[in-house]
Amino acid sequence: QSVRGRRMLELRTGLPAFNQRDLLLTAISQNQVIVISGETGCGKTTQVPQFILESEIEANRGASCSIICTQPRRISAMSVSERVAYERGEQLGESVGYKVRLEGVRGRDTRLLFCTTGILLRRLLVDRNLRGVTHVIVDEIHERGMNEDFLLIILKDLLPRRPELKLILMSASLDAELFSSYFGGAGVVHIPGFTYPVRSHFLEDILEMSGYRLTQYNQIDDYGQEKTWKMNKQIPRKRKSQIASVVEDALRAADLKEFSPETRGSLSCWNPDCIGFNLIEFILCHICENERPGGILVFMTGWDDITSLKEKIQIHPIFGNPHRVLLLACHGSMASSEQRLIFEEPASGVRKIVLATNIAETSITINDVAFVIDCGKAKETSYDALNNAPCLLPSWISKVSAQQRRGRAGRVQPGQCYHLYPKCVYDAFAEYQLPEILRTPLQSLCLQIKSLNLGSISEFLSRALQSPELLAVQKAIEYLKIIGALDENECLTTLGRYLSKLPMEPKLGKMLVLGAILGCLDPILTVAAGLSVRDPFLTPLDKKDLAEAAKSQFSRDHSDHLALVRAYEGWKKAEEESAVYDYCWKNFLSVQSMRAIDSLRKEFFSLIKDTGLIDGNTATCNSGGNDENLTRAVICYGLYPGICSVVHNERSFSLKTMEDGQVLLNSNSVNARETKIPYPWLVFNEKIKVNSVFLRDSTAVSDSALILFGGSISKGDTDGHLKMLGGYLEFFM
Ligand code: ADP
Ligand code: MG
Repeated sequence: QSVRGRRMLELRTGLPAFNQRDLLLTAISQNQVIVISGETGCGKTTQVPQFILESEIEANRGASCSIICTQPRRISAMSVSERVAYERGEQLGESVGYKVRLEGVRGRDTRLLFCTTGILLRRLLVDRNLRGVTHVIVDEIHERGMNEDFLLIILKDLLPRRPELKLILMSASLDAELFSSYFGGAGVVHIPGFTYPVRSHFLEDILEMSGYRLTQYNQIDDYGQEKTWKMNKQIPRKRKSQIASVVEDALRAADLKEFSPETRGSLSCWNPDCIGFNLIEFILCHICENERPGGILVFMTGWDDITSLKEKIQIHPIFGNPHRVLLLACHGSMASSEQRLIFEEPASGVRKIVLATNIAETSITINDVAFVIDCGKAKETSYDALNNAPCLLPSWISKVSAQQRRGRAGRVQPGQCYHLYPKCVYDAFAEYQLPEILRTPLQSLCLQIKSLNLGSISEFLSRALQSPELLAVQKAIEYLKIIGALDENECLTTLGRYLSKLPMEPKLGKMLVLGAILGCLDPILTVAAGLSVRDPFLTPLDKKDLAEAAKSQFSRDHSDHLALVRAYEGWKKAEEESAVYDYCWKNFLSVQSMRAIDSLRKEFFSLIKDTGLIDGNTATCNSGGNDENLTRAVICYGLYPGICSVVHNERSFSLKTMEDGQVLLNSNSVNARETKIPYPWLVFNEKIKVNSVFLRDSTAVSDSALILFGGSISKGDTDGHLKMLGGYLEFFM
């Protein structure tokens, strides 16, 4: 055996899971379903599937076994499979493989397949009984993602039909009983772990210890031009004020007498809506200069703030010096070469700093971390009731998540954790996060249920681990009927079938489908991507007029969405000339949002290609050329029923929707600068309620676009989609 092989075995046998190997295998052989819980990093994900594979090989069933292990995220499916193959001294695609959307490596002899939960759900679409599969391992069930909860209902139905199929559920927390009783008393195995103590410092402790002072100006959370501009507080998002209101109550009730007046004064300037980049930089410096060796893990909310923080600190003399610091990012969309670096030990004397999303909370364990900086937030999807749509916004994490984050510092030595919020705010955190199925809209899930032929939606969902409210279910079904994805009898329409294959909000899917068919996919890709990211048009407070003038340059036709299409075209050109920053600066555009749009466009394109609607030839799906009326109509088709009527009076116009009566335009909409809109309707993607209802971005549309698309759908003409499409094509040709 090679040195590497011996070392690997040593590493593996050192993990807590190894001590429970026999117990685990016995439990699996004696029960159809078992639940395994164990602290993060104890070896569940990398070891348990291997134990099963090894024992099957020992029992001479190596050639006939087929183990599927699901992961909530594609990045973990990929990195884990690579790790397991490496531990086994193999190449990926021998006994171990992976499959995620649009990518995968597996061979004829692959017996252990890591995949995303979505991939297994898709397999169930064509193979209801999972023929040939011997073991299904569902990992990270404590996260209570929508897909995982959904998969559990299906597997529960499947088990009696496949008595020899084994189901293994793995969780990082101790709520095994919940899952066990759902499966009628499944076996439970706990893997005891060990961690070193970790000392917590809350915001007031950090301020008191260091003398660092918060002011209103040193907490700006964006870098680049957004840092030098004091941003116009646009109409606040509902969720943000919730972040702030938790804080207000908590701070009012807090007893901070033992802290100095300076600390207390500083705390009162604290802005909970920002992640204080300067404070993070300060703490990083403090650790690098004063504390003993050990990696630093910084929990941020997402790819965008990780990128900005990285850009900000890599010009710092310490963090920019590769002989002192190895600065890495860890998030869902990183490249796999970058992934590998996260696990590597840095050269001696070099400190590793990893800027991560909550993916590093339980699914990826970085071994040599001794310091954690926790911003206290994560991006989570939640339900926006006003728009009946999901929204992805930063919100406070739960106590359990905060403890998980802290625990990451104590794997190899006693550690320290810096929380960037006061203790009283931690005390106000929810104990657990609500399961996704209870907090997000159910539209996409309903489409999945239908495409898998699982019968009545509400009956099916009533069998979930925790069922969503009936009202929420009815609302989702109603919406799907209005947009023409389900017919009167709750059956999938042709459109619905396509939408069920597109993992995105139905309205975006709808736009893309029609954009592809009608040959205006390119602008629609930009519109759909733009609707998924933070508004790229910036409005600095002191340059409001200039910013609005810059935006209106892109617009000639009463459409914020088309203004973005033009802004993106310009950005693309600027990118070729390496003049992106200059371009964005001049036009008041956010570099990060534009980049995010660029990468989402590529993702949406491959998704739509995947449906088989287009052959990947960009010329055919853009045969409509730059016909803006066509694009406008397709935007209308997607955003319907988000529509209001334009009522002109002497000097200007007013807007009305069916549900809200009079509505207003967001001040940075191009339509807000007009006195007249020569169209009868405006479609919009989002309403915001402050005192009145405001529309964020809007596009003016004509009667014919509405009648051909929105209008006929609202009359319940559900099977008429293709007819309608035919009509529309005639209209244009
Ligand atoms: P769990 O699933 O129980 O949280 P894992 O099986 O993911 O634990 O991790 C077990 C150990 O393997 C951890 O110490 C982790 O750091 C290590 N590990 C996991 N993936 C990799 C990798 N790609 N490279 C190096 N070490 C890894
Ligand atoms: Mg794991």
